[in-house]
Amino acid sequence: MNIPFLSFGFHEQIREKLLEASIRVIDSGWFVNGEEVSAFQNEWADYLACGHTVGTSNGLDALILSLKALGIGAGDEVIVPSNTYVATALAATHVGATPVFVEPKIETYNIDPRRIEAAITNKTKAIMPVHLYGQAAEMTAIMEIAERHGLFVVEDNAQAQGAQHKGQKTGTFGHCNGTSFYPGKNLGALGDAGAVSTNDAELAHKVKVLSNYGSQKKYYNEVIGHNNRLDEMQAAFLRVKLPHLDEWTAQRQAIASAYREWLNGAGDLVLPVTQVDSSHVYHLFVVRTKQRNALAQHLNENGIGTLIHYPVPPHLQECYQNLGYKRGDFPIAEEIADTALSLPVWPGMPDADVLSVASSIKAFFNV
Ligand SMILES: *Cc1c(COP(=O)(O)O)cnc(C)c1O
Repeated sequence: MNIPFLSFGFHEQIREKLLEASIRVIDSGWFVNGEEVSAFQNEWADYLACGHTVGTSNGLDALILSLKALGIGAGDEVIVPSNTYVATALAATHVGATPVFVEPKIETYNIDPRRIEAAITNKTKAIMPVHLYGQAAEMTAIMEIAERHGLFVVEDNAQAQGAQHKGQKTGTFGHCNGTSFYPGKNLGALGDAGAVSTNDAELAHKVKVLSNYGSQKKYYNEVIGHNNRLDEMQAAFLRVKLPHLDEWTAQRQAIASAYREWLNGAGDLVLPVTQVDSSHVYHLFVVRTKQRNALAQHLNENGIGTLIHYPVPPHLQECYQNLGYKRGDFPIAEEIADTALSLPVWPGMPDADVLSVASSIKAFFNV
């Protein structure tokens, strides 16, 4: 058996269109700040039903630029989930702020709104919810807390493109939000790429200027900027892929239902729980078990690829030693890191493969 964790076989369906797009860019002789990026920004904004989007070099830069545009910097605190991918916390650190960790709900893996207020101090400037593994966080509750305390919200929408909370797409709730088009994300480019989304024209303008050397007019620089632009080639590829996103999401959701049905009752396996009012686009299908390492090894021996998202929570990473945390400080995040296992899921994954993964897991648990 050879079932990879992720396959890009679904690119076959759009291969010709990707080639045409690349030729269009090559023949245009225009590679940065051009029509492909403008068109993609409009199409991404339409898809989200959001006022403005600005293409960026990647997801981490989209988050950094969002925080900078909101004026967040040295001495400020930014609330992030304790179980996120490290990039969310890094964005806060890169603008000079301190990430403050808040535990998730163990059922949904998303930040627990009931725990946010206890973490707010007079230095808190923003909350960064993450729609982890593809499930929309509880945005209504989070926005209400932010409003009550005069805080900004910056959604990390890297894993949940197309997910909704109460019918509204993720990436449109917060003041200024970031997403990633890293190849493995639900909407992936063929290289690094990302975008900011906001309903505030002034913030969109600030992000655009910051991403372009702090300049609107070539060689005139208003602010200390970065080079964090999306390029024409990646924008052209994203324009080919965006029209397929909903169809690919539906395929991910069908695979998730099949896993659910076939894995129900297998040993101590915990299956993903969807929150009322939130949809899940299954960027990852994450299960949990006390025997995680043994199960991963069993699947690996049977030719099935798995990954752990994530083996070390941010507060225990070497790069954050200076924050002074120790094991036991965020027990829910640590429990998830110790027990989570991501199973293969990609658009077009054959039913037979899904069944093989499920059967192999059942064999492991002797059911
Ligand atoms: C992928 C990811 C990012 C970073 O995106 P890049 O494009 O790789 O910089 C940020 N946050 C989360 C939750 C992610 O999964």
